[in-house]
Amino acid sequence: MSQLWSQVSGVLDGAVRELDELDAALARWARGDYGICSRCERAIDPARLEARPAAALCIDCARLVG
Ligand SMILES: [Zn+2]
Repeated sequence: MSQLWSQVSGVLDGAVRELDELDAALARWARGDYGICSRCERAIDPARLEARPAAALCIDCARLVG
């Protein structure tokens, strides 16, 4: 029971985080800087955006911040 709950709440946590990320991505889209790394301001690799549409960081910065 508690193990199932921790699995469910883990999935929910992930979903909420994804929604937050998508929300932020939409805000960037509205500002016209979607696809631009929010740290180094270089263009994010389109292949990365395809895999993670809500990515706010380029792959180099994502690696640096973890
Ligand atoms: Zn970057």
